[in-house]
Amino acid sequence: MKPYRPARIVVEREARRDPLARRVLDFYSGVPVEEVERAEELLAEPPAGPDPFGAGKRTLLLARFRGTFVKPCPGTAEMLCCHYVVLSPIVNCPLECTYCVLQSYINRPAITVHTNVEECLAQIDEYLAAVPPGGLVRIGTGELADSLVLEEPTGWAERLVHDVAGRTNAVLELKTKTALVEPLLGLDHGGRTVVAWSLNPEVIIRREELKTVGLEERLEAAARVQAAGYLAAFHFDPLIHYPGWEADYRDLVARLAQAVDSRRVAWVSLGSLRFLPGLKTVIKARFPKSRLPGGEFVLGQDKKLHYLAPLRTAMYRAVAGWLKEWDEEILIYLCMERDSLWDAALGERPPDRAAVEQRFRRRLQAVASFGTTPS
Ligand code: SF4
Repeated sequence: MKPYRPARIVVEREARRDPLARRVLDFYSGVPVEEVERAEELLAEPPAGPDPFGAGKRTLLLARFRGTFVKPCPGTAEMLCCHYVVLSPIVNCPLECTYCVLQSYINRPAITVHTNVEECLAQIDEYLAAVPPGGLVRIGTGELADSLVLEEPTGWAERLVHDVAGRTNAVLELKTKTALVEPLLGLDHGGRTVVAWSLNPEVIIRREELKTVGLEERLEAAARVQAAGYLAAFHFDPLIHYPGWEADYRDLVARLAQAVDSRRVAWVSLGSLRFLPGLKTVIKARFPKSRLPGGEFVLGQDKKLHYLAPLRTAMYRAVAGWLKEWDEEILIYLCMERDSLWDAALGERPPDRAAVEQRFRRRLQAVASFGTTPS
């Protein structure tokens, strides 16, 4: 995997004083730097060429975040929600998954690294202080960017790992499609950080998850973090339907089982391909070789296109079955699915939010490292 190097860095005047901004500027010394008063000035630039979203990834913006770093995952009213909390230290991503939802949401032509770390940590404090006794919050940074792809220049994950290490009501999840785990290995993580990989068969990785690392590298990296005492997690998300999916996903679970210790897997999620209708046009224009837009989809209540329910059910049921053959105790959950799909695919579901939290807490308590620094 080729390391990311921006073509230019734009830095807000105020942010330039922050240690994180200085670290990034030192790391990328030699890259042209422009200073702006406010990040919003970038919006006034004319769109760059025929692919402004792709072009935007070559600009790295260093800016202070003036909003809320810590936000409950929006979920959808009709879906059984897993009550995740999204943290946004970095917005936008150097990797190029054809199905990336950010292509529908990002309107700033840059990858934004927020530099006001202390404010973010203060917001985490405030959020967790309001959690009722016995509650458990799962916080993740992988929704608006890959959690590790910019770790070497920014050090964001390290700060967060240290922040949650001593907490009793939170776990941090770092989600990645890279093998860039080196900066994590020596950290004192206190057993409160879970390092997670999104998994797909190699044929899908090559065609639809561009600039990411292959399956073997992801699995080797997962084994390395487990050896360093972290818990690992895996997301079969998005599950993609194509001729031969069954054999390939079965093989994927078999390779996972060979590579990592199931007793140190915190959770596994399953989610099928879904996207806002407008993304189809974007995928066709940006990635003409992608086969994703050719699938058969139905518009869901969440206003996103999904595979038909019987197909989703069949895929979830199959993958969950192979995972349970590997280890009956693994915690499996569905991402963004309604109750009926849980029932049909997994044969059961947690009845409410408290039960969801309890499941995660129980699983974490069942694995040896929870709450302690393992040897
Ligand atoms: S890793 Fe995630 S955020 Fe990055 S391009 Fe892929 S889907 Fe988008």
